[in-house]
Amino acid sequence: MHEYSIVSSLLNLCEENAKKENAKKITKVEVKIGKLSGVEPDLLRVAFDTFKEKTICDGAKFIMNIQDVVIYCNECKKKFTLKQNEFTCPNCKSFNIDTIDGEDMYLMRLEME
Ligand SMILES: [Zn+2]
Repeated sequence: MHEYSIVSSLLNLCEENAKKENAKKITKVEVKIGKLSGVEPDLLRVAFDTFKEKTICDGAKFIMNIQDVVIYCNECKKKFTLKQNEFTCPNCKSFNIDTIDGEDMYLMRLEME
C-alpha cells in the first residue's frame, strides 16, 4: 500500500531528526497532507500506528492537517483556495493557474524529549 511506504520514510525522517537533536523519544508528529497528494488520511493513520511500534515514534501523537488546494491565477494575479478539484480560477475561470499548495505531504513539526 502507498501509505505504508510514506510512513516508513516519515519514520526514517523522524529518526534522523531525533538523532540530530539527541532526543530519546518523539512525542508528537505533525504532518500536512495536501488534498492532491493522493494520501488517504485514515490509511495513513493506520499505517503510522502499525509501524511506529518499537521505533522512536512509539507512543507519539500523530496530527494530520489537511491542506486545501491553493492556486495562483496568472490572470487575476491572486491566490485562491479551491473547494473542489476544479482546476480553473474560481474568479475568472482561467486555466492559466499555478498550484502553490496542497500537492504534497510534508512533515511540519516534531516534538521530542
Ligand atoms: Zn482568475
